[in-house]
Amino acid sequence: MPHYEFFCRDCKKFFDQILSLVDYEEGEVKCPHCDSTNIEQRWSAFSVITSKKSA
Ligand SMILES: [Zn+2]
Repeated sequence: MPHYEFFCRDCKKFFDQILSLVDYEEGEVKCPHCDSTNIEQRWSAFSVITSKKSA
């Protein structure tokens, strides 16, 4: 399941949500702390860099 990280502009807290893409695209994301929809998405720790391989 995709995992998204969000920031609530109202209570200034970060939270994560595990959503289907449909839920995400329909904007069904609410802050679990204050129930606000005034949030922005963060893209942190999403791409894991595996550049070095020590055989
Ligand atoms: Zn909030």
